[in-house]
Amino acid sequence: MTDSSDAPDQTPITTADRLLEVQRIDTEADQLANRRERLVERDQLHAASTSLTTWERERNSMRSRLDDLTAVIERAESDAAGIDAHRVRLAAQLKTVIAPREAEALMHEMATLDEQVDALDTVELEALEEQSDVDDRLTAHLSTESALRDAVSVADSALERATAEIDRELDELSAQRSVARGELADGVMARYDRVRASSGVAVAKLVGHRCDGCHLDLSAAEVDVVKEEAAVSDGVADCPNCGRMLAL
Ligand SMILES: [Zn+2]
Repeated sequence: MTDSSDAPDQTPITTADRLLEVQRIDTEADQLANRRERLVERDQLHAASTSLTTWERERNSMRSRLDDLTAVIERAESDAAGIDAHRVRLAAQLKTVIAPREAEALMHEMATLDEQVDALDTVELEALEEQSDVDDRLTAHLSTESALRDAVSVADSALERATAEIDRELDELSAQRSVARGELADGVMARYDRVRASSGVAVAKLVGHRCDGCHLDLSAAEVDVVKEEAAVSDGVADCPNCGRMLAL
């Protein structure tokens, strides 16, 4: 349609024209809302956030492992200290023993304690080695934190800008929609809303014999009926096939 506001007297705007305008606005708004949901910036933010979440999980896991290793080391040291104290008492006792069998039993017990301390030392040493390894990995891991947080922040801002731009366009369309709807009768709008709710697109054009909503041809008799209907309804009829409002 050409801009009829230039020549309102020659080409009066029909109900059909106004309905097509409301439909155009709604379709454009639908497309914008769709684009808003599918913004590449949204995917980028999701990817950056997922990377950060993964990073945090790995950091927490390393910290938790370090806590476990510290506990293992402390336990090994405390157990070894207890065994050492026991061994000192046995060594003192050994000096006072005269019976060889009793001395032998004490020495056997001390040897067992030595083995236990050796085992604890091994446990502690392994834990210390792993602690140093995890510590190095944690340091390297922490050095990547700011880059990941920056990426989330950049993606977040980009999404905000992109959605703000679309929201501005949607606000504009919303204002246009209010004006366009205000120029149509309540009954016409109610029917429009009903058809739009069920069919998505409420208004179709008759192109030749074909409804461009359902893409079905109307018979010659149907076209006659539709034209009669439109003549008394300011250019609006019903598609006998899909029930959309036909603009003629
Ligand atoms: Zn149709």
